[in-house]
Amino acid sequence: MNLDVRTIIVMMSALSLLFSALLALAGLRVNHYRGIWHWAAGSLFIGLGFAAAYFQEQPPFNFWFVVFGSTLIALGLGMQFNGITAFKTDRCNRYIPLLITALVFIVNTWFAIISPDINARVIFNSLVFGLFNGACARALLIRIEQPLRTAYWFTGASFAVLAILLLLRSIMAFLAPPDSYGIYSHSTINPLAFFVGNIAQLCITFGLVLMLNYRLSTDLQKQASIDVLTGALNRRSLEQEADRLSARCLRTGDTLAVLMIDVDHFKSINDHYGHPVGDEVLKRLAALVQQTIRSDDYFARYGGEEFCIMLPSTGEQEAWLIADRLRQNYEELIMEFEGETLRSTISIGVADSLHAGIDFSTLIAAADKAMYQAKQQGRNRVVMYAEQSRVSGNV
Ligand code: GH3
Ligand code: MG
Ligand code: MG
Repeated sequence: MNLDVRTIIVMMSALSLLFSALLALAGLRVNHYRGIWHWAAGSLFIGLGFAAAYFQEQPPFNFWFVVFGSTLIALGLGMQFNGITAFKTDRCNRYIPLLITALVFIVNTWFAIISPDINARVIFNSLVFGLFNGACARALLIRIEQPLRTAYWFTGASFAVLAILLLLRSIMAFLAPPDSYGIYSHSTINPLAFFVGNIAQLCITFGLVLMLNYRLSTDLQKQASIDVLTGALNRRSLEQEADRLSARCLRTGDTLAVLMIDVDHFKSINDHYGHPVGDEVLKRLAALVQQTIRSDDYFARYGGEEFCIMLPSTGEQEAWLIADRLRQNYEELIMEFEGETLRSTISIGVADSLHAGIDFSTLIAAADKAMYQAKQQGRNRVVMYAEQSRVSGNV
């Protein structure tokens, strides 16, 4: 194949150094994610490694350039691997890549200086680099978080292509006659490996930035939909979900129930124990609700100390039972704050789409009305909209 490997190596070195700066710049803005600095350092070492490899034909230090080039590339690949595992799991084993890098240094010193054997060196380096890339591909292609799937696939596939090429290169070097296979060998697979390797390196960096971008936008979306104090949905995302659910119920004829929950005499909890304790009470209530509801129910903080639960495929009676169980559990909850025990109660209003209509704002208004009735009737109770409207109708 008539490609100039020297030029490709210079390009690989220059691009890797550039990518390193790019990744470092990306990492500056998001230092709460682990792994990006590993990627940047990985690219830096790979870039320097290829620069050293380029000078391997310049005497008198040519052999040392070979050794340091290979060692730096191994270190760079190890850093990339660690970066991926750190990004995915927040944990990485620092020592394995270092041990392999040390092995690469020793083996290359052996085959380049002590007992020169160029084929053995190419076989060994291609195998190790191929395995490193294969490990990166594997780390990216297994157990992928759903919203990041495309980015992981893209990056993982690029690593896999590089791994396959390097393994092929090691096989070619194994089959070649002794002392015939060097970095600038013109056999088909060698220039091709460098050419495709260069493009794969570009795709990998792009993929890493893409992974970062996907994670950032997913996290921002999550943050924008959740109430910071209680971890419940916020009002904005509740309304979004409500629109979706109402449309579905309208289509399927399903009943949607809504619970409006309000903490009784919450102001006096704040006044007596202080605001931070009030916050903690809200958190405990939210945690209790999360344990009580089903996985397809929606729990949101509606505002202040008021919460809302949407129960799909549920009528008022069934919703009342769920609400009353929650009310009882909360009443029985004994909270301790700095030696003082605190008990609190909630009032709940229940409404369903059968009695109040499917429009979310009228459903909420109905549940709110029922909740107000519960307060009027002495608090710590659950009132159904259908019941209270019948009672007030009779008055
Ligand atoms: P009722 O039984 O009638 O509901 O009485 P209440 O005291 O609970 O009712 P009210 O609506 O007057 O009081 C709500 C209080 O909730 C007022 C406000 O200071 C407090 N509050 C709202 N949001 C928060 C919060 O995030 N943290 C804390 N600690 N208090 C909050
Ligand atoms: Mg209130
Ligand atoms: Mg209240």
